[in-house]
Amino acid sequence: MTADPSATRGSGAGFSTRAVHEATVAMPEQRPTSVPIFQTSTWGFDSGEEFAEVLSGAKAGYAYGRGYGNPTVEAFERVLASLEGTEACFAFSSGMSAINSVCLSQAGAGDRLVASKELYGGTYSFFASVLPRYGIEVDFVDPHDVAAVEKALPGAALFYCETIANPLCSVADLAALKAACDRAGVPAAVDNTFASPLLCNPAALGFEFVIHSVTKMIAGHSDVVAGAVCCSAKDRAALRKVALDTGGAMAPFEAWLCLRGAETLELRMGRMCENAAALTELLSTRAEVSAVHYPGLKSHPQRQVAERQFGFAGGSMFSFEIADGATAAEKWCARLRLSWIGASLGGTHTLVCHPASTTHRQVPAEVRRGAGLSDGLIRVSPGIENTEDLVADFAGAF
Ligand SMILES: *Cc1c(COP(=O)(O)O)cnc(C)c1O
Repeated sequence: MTADPSATRGSGAGFSTRAVHEATVAMPEQRPTSVPIFQTSTWGFDSGEEFAEVLSGAKAGYAYGRGYGNPTVEAFERVLASLEGTEACFAFSSGMSAINSVCLSQAGAGDRLVASKELYGGTYSFFASVLPRYGIEVDFVDPHDVAAVEKALPGAALFYCETIANPLCSVADLAALKAACDRAGVPAAVDNTFASPLLCNPAALGFEFVIHSVTKMIAGHSDVVAGAVCCSAKDRAALRKVALDTGGAMAPFEAWLCLRGAETLELRMGRMCENAAALTELLSTRAEVSAVHYPGLKSHPQRQVAERQFGFAGGSMFSFEIADGATAAEKWCARLRLSWIGASLGGTHTLVCHPASTTHRQVPAEVRRGAGLSDGLIRVSPGIENTEDLVADFAGAF
């Protein structure tokens, strides 16, 4: 498109005409270090034929913001595909939109999914109460019992699990699970949010769909909700089709925030992992604490899997149990001076949450305890604060 930057200049055009049409820009030849935000929902064409060719995919170009592409969003997709080592990536407006689109691209009425029973709450709700209403059944399995997974797989449209699962930070043996999927000929999807691409690249183990709530570690500053799926170019085309038909594509400003976050992921995640190691070391020595759940600890049930899969550290997320139960746990959280009580994770601020009184308060106590969530359980997402300040904060809250 060869827009004339002065199309209305001196033409005697009216006030609003000039206000709209004088706002053109010649693309600079020089490259800005920060990717510009192409904050536009629609694009111009030189002819109707060109418009049609771009819409049909016969010609490269941009048409409309809902999944037809945007330079800022594509820059983020390139970055994340590179960090996960996949051919392609498609960016979504949230992690849930990414998860829902993977399911819609792979399954329809009459199909069945096999999913880990250790899932993010929103994902569990989507699988247990939304998909069945559209004729897609979901079988929940114990991801640490590969034989049980293998038994459930034949005929399934998709297998779904999480690299590190909330809130006990259990670690799925992705290589073993993928091998079972291959024997059954079932494509495999994994939510890699907690590990981030720094700790684990599930595509290297063959996973077809690597999903992120980019909201968390990757964007990293608690200022954006975003999601993405890393996959093959062919699977990306199917995801894009879902986004065109149902919405959910990422917007340009969000993509810019995600790009900025990705630049410092290694530095932030490195500090967060260090903080997790120091805090879990402190908690392990406290008499008030009955258990610490962190893949970096020798006592963690999947410590070996974590070492093999993550190479270093045990990640940033951990949880621990206050022996005296719910009231003592709530009091401990309230005595923190630096760390905040709040939802979400992976940001610069340390966040703690007491599931029994907040995120899981509607779950009956017996069900909660049955799932391994004791009344005194506290989940921690360490931020990037200085380690000694956080250690003092945690120690001071006892
Ligand atoms: C937050 C989260 C999601 C959902 O992502 P949103 O960006 O909030 O839609 C999915 N999986 C995991 C593991 C999460 O932590």
